[in-house]
Amino acid sequence: MSTVANNLSNVFATPDFPYRNLLEVILLPLAIFSGAEAIFVNRATCVFMEAESVEELLGLPPAAFVHPLDTAIVEDRMRTLEEGAAVNAPVALRVLTRRGRVRRITTSSARVAVGSEFLIAIISTDDTMRYEAENRLKENEENFQRLFESTQDVYYRTDANGAVLNVGPAVRRVPGYEPEEMVGRRAEDFYPSPDEREPLKKALREQGKVQDFEGRMVRRDGVIIDISISSYALRSPAGEFLGVEGIYRDVSDRKRLERELRRLATSDSLTGIANRRAFLEQASECLRRAARYKKDLVLFIADLDHFKAVNDRYGHIAGDVVLQRFAGAVAPELRDTDCLGRLGGEEFGILLQEARRKEAQHVAERIGESARRLRFAAANGQEYGITVSIGATRNHRDDRGIERLLVRADMALYAAKGAGRDCIRWSEP
Ligand code: GH3
Ligand code: MG
Ligand code: MG
Repeated sequence: MSTVANNLSNVFATPDFPYRNLLEVILLPLAIFSGAEAIFVNRATCVFMEAESVEELLGLPPAAFVHPLDTAIVEDRMRTLEEGAAVNAPVALRVLTRRGRVRRITTSSARVAVGSEFLIAIISTDDTMRYEAENRLKENEENFQRLFESTQDVYYRTDANGAVLNVGPAVRRVPGYEPEEMVGRRAEDFYPSPDEREPLKKALREQGKVQDFEGRMVRRDGVIIDISISSYALRSPAGEFLGVEGIYRDVSDRKRLERELRRLATSDSLTGIANRRAFLEQASECLRRAARYKKDLVLFIADLDHFKAVNDRYGHIAGDVVLQRFAGAVAPELRDTDCLGRLGGEEFGILLQEARRKEAQHVAERIGESARRLRFAAANGQEYGITVSIGATRNHRDDRGIERLLVRADMALYAAKGAGRDCIRWSEP
């Protein structure tokens, strides 16, 4: 220790130094330097620096207390004080403890005159915890931002009037808009029609939130997409409705697949009309409704005549074409509310809703006529046609299921075949 430092440190060493105890007990790390040597360090400094004892730190220069990367800053600040400045403004620095750990401090230094000499007092706050917490928070925010920007889900927030306040960047990918093109407009402006948002609003009003709610949206290029919405209603602590916040995603691919699977499961692959199961389901539903509202309906079974001969003469593929064209010829003779399905082989089911016998008879005749009109070309250039026999029945008050009608129509069909084919027979006289 230099003589000056030695003399001054004696000041601190004397038990009657008035502020010694005070400096000793303050919880902030405090160190006093004379020239380039520490002549006083308090307990808090020892703890902060992870030093075994005060002696380990006494005599060290200020730069020995900070991280090697920050020594230049400290030396610069010491110089400022030596040249006469009274204080240095607080600065954030890294510290390297005696055990090699990096900690963060904010430190202030002051020049303290003692007679004709001066000392430099350095006082610090430990910022390590705050720094780490802030860093974690920043990292979380960055992670959230990354997620927000990369997700396929569109974040959105509307105000109490349904105007869009904020949307996430995924709107560029999903509806194809720039976020600023959506902000300020009403959410329903992006629906195929404004009333399509009503069910969502109703659910939010009644339940406060929705999960995987189905909806549709119009993309910027005009294409309608299927969306799935998860949102909740925002309310003030007083319960006042503030708007809606949530996410939605494009589920068009999934919906298309679902529709395609449903179509495959319910349609006949050769003719494209309803398969047996789907037809019987539709017919059963029609029968239930007719019973409830006391309406008449009619069921036909239409069976191609001598179809086996078509296969035998012209081949199975020609037979397939006949089935396809017959199905195609029947459909235009029916109303939207009627049902058509392939019951199997060359047998078709036709259900006419709200039809009386006389009208149904006309429809059956038109079906027979359109079958007769179909012309097919054989490989040898020969032309041939087909005819169809139709068994018909009406609903009875005591019909419990569609099977009863199928049995009666089948019996009527048998009668039509027996009567020479290419004709219509009814189950009742
Ligand atoms: P009928 O006038 O009494 O109804 O005689 P038909 O020959 O039409 O009746 P039958 O039941 O004897 O023969 C029906 C034929 O339909 C037998 C079967 O090979 C054929 N068939 C069933 N399904 C298909 C199919 O998907 N494609 C083709 N090409 N033929 C089929
Ligand atoms: Mg047949
Ligand atoms: Mg048959």
